[in-house]
Amino acid sequence: EAGDVDTVWMDGEFVDWDDAQIHVLTHGLHYGTGVFEGVRCYDTEDGPAIFRWEEHLDRFYQSGKPYNLEVPFDREELTEATKELIRRQDLPSCYIRPIAYYGYDMLGLSPETCPEQVAIAVWPWGAYLGEDALEQGVEVTVSSWQKYSSAQIPTNAKTTGPYVNSVLASLEAKREGYTEALLLNGEGNVAEGPGENLFLVRDDEIYTPGLAEGILDGITRNTVITLAREQGYTVHDDATISRGELNTADELFFSGTAAEVTPIRKVDNVVVGEGSRGPVTEDIQKAFFDLVERRTDAHEDWFTYVDV
Ligand code: PMP
Repeated sequence: EAGDVDTVWMDGEFVDWDDAQIHVLTHGLHYGTGVFEGVRCYDTEDGPAIFRWEEHLDRFYQSGKPYNLEVPFDREELTEATKELIRRQDLPSCYIRPIAYYGYDMLGLSPETCPEQVAIAVWPWGAYLGEDALEQGVEVTVSSWQKYSSAQIPTNAKTTGPYVNSVLASLEAKREGYTEALLLNGEGNVAEGPGENLFLVRDDEIYTPGLAEGILDGITRNTVITLAREQGYTVHDDATISRGELNTADELFFSGTAAEVTPIRKVDNVVVGEGSRGPVTEDIQKAFFDLVERRTDAHEDWFTYVDV
């Protein structure tokens, strides 16, 4: 990832990649007291365009609330810093990683006196689950690790520490030869992937677990729901999906900033539908890429152009 980029924004300054360092007693390192975002910027006719930046910023600021973590930069400052990072490094498209965290002052659990620090890095990042995955689909396994409940950790905040749950599920899946995991919640219903929301298609209707199932309120999830409804599909965005329904679904797919819209072709080696990208998934995927690559004028307000 380094190599294509040489600059990181930290606490208001542009610093060399190699100098983007923090103290080893950083509170966020020990206790995971940070919040972050993952955003994509797409290559369009009008130059690089950041997709749903405003919604990502909303979630970024809101994620800090349970932790008393007030991001010490406003929307304009973060927007300008990000645009400048992309311009300076001449990136036609990229992934954007803003993070805010408690720095070092002391290592008591409650970070009252720790400084609130912020960084933004950008780098080129292709298809998260592989180029093939977008067309052929991925093979997933239902993880032996459950998604934590929102009574344990807020699931609507994107907090660094709890991502160990996703890391455990991903590692397990990879060890067993799968591309990705699927996590059930404490009730045994389907929650989401380690970094993706899940969609299910049955009889041409679309289902996705509701927020109460302990999922992250994905911005791509919201995009998919919107696009699918515009295409005339019935979308149930408050579904409870049992494990067995994974096997009887016509189609399954993931949504996420990194994963975009990725079909799932097998769950624990049981074929989903025809075992390849299904027609509804293909429809949604096409609408998604037409949108983000600006082959349509729709939803212009979802784009923040870097060069303006
Ligand atoms: N669930 C989890 C656990 C995630 O980490 C992500 C990625 N942020 C998503 C879902 C998808 O969210 P989004 O579409 O906003 O990237």
